[in-house]
Amino acid sequence: TGSVIIVGAGHAGFQVAASLRQAGFSERIALINDEGHLPYQRPPLSKAYLKGTGGPETLMFRPEKFYHDNKIELITDRAHAIDRNARKVALASGTSLDYGHLVFATGARNRLLDIPNAKLDAVRYLRILDESQALRDLIAPGMRVVVIGAGFIGLEFAATARGKGLEVDVVELASRVMARAVTAEISEFSQSRHAAAGIRIHLGVQVTAIEADGAKVTGVSLSNGTHIPADLVVVGVGVLPNVELAAEAGLPVASGIIVDEHLLTADPDISAIGDCALYTSKRFGGSLRLESVQNATDHARCVASRLTGKTEVYDGLPWFWSDQGPDKLQMAGLTTGYDRVVVRGDRAQGAFSAFCYRGDRLLGIESVNRAGDHMFGRRLLGAGGSITPEQAADASFDLKSALS
Ligand code: FAD
Repeated sequence: TGSVIIVGAGHAGFQVAASLRQAGFSERIALINDEGHLPYQRPPLSKAYLKGTGGPETLMFRPEKFYHDNKIELITDRAHAIDRNARKVALASGTSLDYGHLVFATGARNRLLDIPNAKLDAVRYLRILDESQALRDLIAPGMRVVVIGAGFIGLEFAATARGKGLEVDVVELASRVMARAVTAEISEFSQSRHAAAGIRIHLGVQVTAIEADGAKVTGVSLSNGTHIPADLVVVGVGVLPNVELAAEAGLPVASGIIVDEHLLTADPDISAIGDCALYTSKRFGGSLRLESVQNATDHARCVASRLTGKTEVYDGLPWFWSDQGPDKLQMAGLTTGYDRVVVRGDRAQGAFSAFCYRGDRLLGIESVNRAGDHMFGRRLLGAGGSITPEQAADASFDLKSALS
């Protein structure tokens, strides 16, 4: 294989390097890291880290010694261009690296808001450690924040901010929260929990402008004519995959860097994984680009296996979680295309799961405070299994019996 050069040191990039060494790979591994921190976990940025007082070291996958001991070169720089004929990566600092195999693990970046005053200092985003740290230092009881976008990150931030005593409004264009990702059952439950915590949720409306007095944010205007006063605006309107470097190198890209079922690009010496990769899914048919830790780390393991001689088609089962206030949401499988939902557990008690079906086929399970159902779903769906809607609805049906 020769040297493996990995562009991006997030969840996917870190995991390829670690898994390669674990599998006994002995050649050069260089991890190009354009953030000023050791590789770290992103999910706590909108959860525990934002809430807590721990330092950045609490987020790191491994201490510096790990990279040294495992001969993983962490190069603080930015990949600037790829020369596929010469097999070289040019870095922003002016140096270049030769590769035997190149892995794009460039992730995604915040989609920026394009409305009046969106560039003011009190308009913030939440993707990287520096942004989470800045928000943590900024938010204080009594402050008024408007969160734009009721996706996972917007709602996690909203719940944390409310917990810290801020006045919180959430504005969402869709008619329910997390509409793209979860069933109406989960959206409705979540809306009621956030409302009970004192968060005001505005659905079916758009923020048309940020109001300011000089450089100071004073509020936001909505498409229905409403004005919400605010000191701070936090934007969570999705991300854009970082595909430009691959595109400039002449590789096919669409809504992600296009890779096959082995996570290889059109160039057999270049793979792409994690949030930036649009991969051919054997499990679901068609192309998928997912944004989750599971996807990033399972992709990474698949590529590390291939580079150490065990070529397998990528077939990970998608799963995801989100912590919002006291509630833990967990998703197993992909529920796109469901036509029937069976609820198991007790909605009123705040612990239930939505089993999503297409016909009689279980597609996925979305759980609220029901970790057992989630783990069951990962095992059952991972192995290609299903249970009937009647079994899912029957509280006396023993899920474990379906796993044997
Ligand atoms: P990233 O983690 O984005 O890493 C890509 C890295 O590449 C970045 O450091 C980027 O700066 C770098 N890079 C890009 N271009 C270059 C270049 N040219 N040169 C060098 N470096 C470059 N997922 C879950 O499953 N559960 C959760 O609860 C959850 N919570 C989340 C909360 C937040 C606040 C965020 C932002 C994400 C959350 N996610 C969660 C999603 C998850 O973190 C991502 O899916 C995951 O980080 C993707 O990993 P990745 O390595 O593909 O990309």
